[in-house]
Parts: sequence; structure tokens; C-alpha cells
Amino acid sequence: MVVASPIAPTAESTARRLMDSHGRVIHDLRVSVTDRCNYKCVYCRTGEFGAQYPELGIEEYLRLIKLFVNLGIEKVRITGGEPLLRPRLIELIEELARLQTPKGEALDLAITTNGHLLDKLALPLKTAGLHRVTVSMDAVDAPTFERITRVPGSFKKVLAGIRAARDAGLTPLKINCVLLRGFNDNQIEGFARFAREENVVVRFIEFMPLEEGRLWTPEIVVPLAEIVERIGREMPLVPMPPREASETARRYTFADGVGEIGIIAPVSQAFCGACSRVRLTSDGKIRTCLFSQVEHDLYGRMRAGEDDKVLSDYIVETIHGKEARHHIGEPGFLKPTRSMVHIGG
Ligand code: SAM
Repeated sequence: MVVASPIAPTAESTARRLMDSHGRVIHDLRVSVTDRCNYKCVYCRTGEFGAQYPELGIEEYLRLIKLFVNLGIEKVRITGGEPLLRPRLIELIEELARLQTPKGEALDLAITTNGHLLDKLALPLKTAGLHRVTVSMDAVDAPTFERITRVPGSFKKVLAGIRAARDAGLTPLKINCVLLRGFNDNQIEGFARFAREENVVVRFIEFMPLEEGRLWTPEIVVPLAEIVERIGREMPLVPMPPREASETARRYTFADGVGEIGIIAPVSQAFCGACSRVRLTSDGKIRTCLFSQVEHDLYGRMRAGEDDKVLSDYIVETIHGKEARHHIGEPGFLKPTRSMVHIGG
């Protein structure tokens, strides 16, 4: 059991904000708590299960996350690998739900999961203080879905997980679908109907060159314009205004106002200029961009005995050096050494 009292903002923390050298305020932290996954999605993994990087203890994640929150992080998203595989996840959520931002508000707390274990965990997570989940689901029919995950029976499990999350009140419930031409681009219209029928927000994501193998080409990406055009042919879409500048998804509703879809287009319409995110890997490295070529060993400093002041200064300095943008599709683009599953999506 982790023992912690409610964390109120300190006088110092209220004066600090995490800002990079390009003037972007960083308020969104993604934390991977394992790089293990129980799916082997064809566009993500080469086909082997198992972790490649060490995991920190739950108390260690908690200490590091508290430092970020004290510096101005307002949203924490727990991810992986598959975060629901991580023992003691509920305890971590309970403790994070007690944290306050420097503005004195509750932390915005979410999880991204493949949903396989969510049917049993949705209610305990909600009770622990989790606000929202995003479930990854790349097809609305079982055969296509299971050809992608390479796990028999996974479609039924995820559907049950989605419904359990909705019933537990982990809403608005978002479903993320990565589209790949020739794999699942025949699912676009079906997903639009699914969003309306299941009362969930479906978000299509352009495939980025972050896979373990070598699948990515510009041609395999299904761009935003094509998705909008194809859904619009069957069900006219109406653009919705952004809620905040750093919102990653372009949002649309349907002409009758029922349902919402979003499109996250990091390839065809990059949004780096409004990026507010930073990542902590399962082994405690800070990544200031999905496509960073360098990692910053926060955990190494903690393990060496550095105090919170030194670690906080290191976070501030590291974030200051955040890259201006990614370079997908440009000459000389280099894939990062870690793939998505090992970074934390
Ligand atoms: N296991 C959890 C899940 O499935 O949501 C969390 C980790 S997973 C890496 C996070 C998200 O990244 C998933 O929605 C997944 O589809 C997406 N993803 C993985 N590889 C990607 C890629 N190369 N481009 C875009 N999204 C990707």
C-alpha cells in the first residue's frame, strides 16, 4: 500500500511553469508503466510478447509524477505497453487522484488501453478516481480486428471492456483507431456508425513511423482529407470548434448533431506548434517528443540519490530543450530508437 497525504501546491510550484524554448507551455504528461503488451498489433509489434525495458516501482512513478505536477503538469495519461497488465495500477491511480495542480485543481487523469482487461477493471479504476479512458480499437468487425491484434477472442473482450467503461462512467469514452491502407481502411464508415450507436467518440489516427518493424510508407497513411470525404459521402460531417489550442484531434459531428468523430493527423497536418506534451517511459526516461533522438535519464538521477530540487531543475531544463517539431516525411528523417509500444503512446 502506498501511503501519501493530499499534495497541495507549494509556494514555489505556483510560480513555475514548464515552458520550452519555443514558448509552448507543457501541461500534459504521458507515463508508460510497462512496455509489455498482450496484443501483437501488426502495425506496432514484430510478433513477440515481452518487455524490452525495465519497469520502475509504483512508488517511483508516483514520486516522479508528483515532481511534474508540482511544476505545472495538469493532465496525466497512464499508458504503455498495456497499462492494465501492471500490478498495483489501482493503487497508483488512487494516489494520483489525490494530487492537485499548482492551480489547486484536481489532476485530469486518464488511461489509454487496448481494453482487453477493462471489463473487470473499469469499475475499480473509476472508484480509484480515474476520470476517463481511451480504448484502442482498430476494426469494428471481429475477423479484421483479430487479424490486426493477432489474439483470438480479442474483439469480444474489447467490446465488453468498452461497454463496462461506459457503464462505470469513465466518460466521454474515446475509441482510437489507427488507419492503415489495405489493412483496415474499409472500416471507416463502420466506425462512424459505431460512434453513433455506442455513444462513443471515435478518433481516427494517422499511422506514424513508430512501428517495431518496417511497414510505414507515405502511401499506407490514410490522410485526414480522405477520411472526412469518405464519411461525408454517407453521413455529412460538420466541423466542431477546438476546445483548446493544444487539442490534437480535429472534431466533427454529424449533420443531425448525434455523435462525434475526431481525426488526429500528425502526418498530413502536423500540430507540433501547439504541442503541450512530454513523456516518461516505463524505465524513467523523459522523452520531449515521440520522435526524439535523445532520452533524458530522470530515473537514473533519482536512483543516484538526487533530491527533489535537483530532479525538478532537471525536468525544467530538459523540457526547455524540447524539439520544435517532428520531421516525418522529410529527407533525412530518422526513426527513433524506441518504437511506440516501448515509448508509451
Ligand atoms: N496498449 C495501449 C493501447 O493499445 O491503447 C496503450 C499503448 S498503445 C502504443 C497507444 C496507442 O498508440 C494505440 O492507440 C495504438 O493504436 C497507437 N499506435 C501504436 N503505434 C502507432 C503508430 N505507429 N502510429 C500511430 N499510432 C500508433
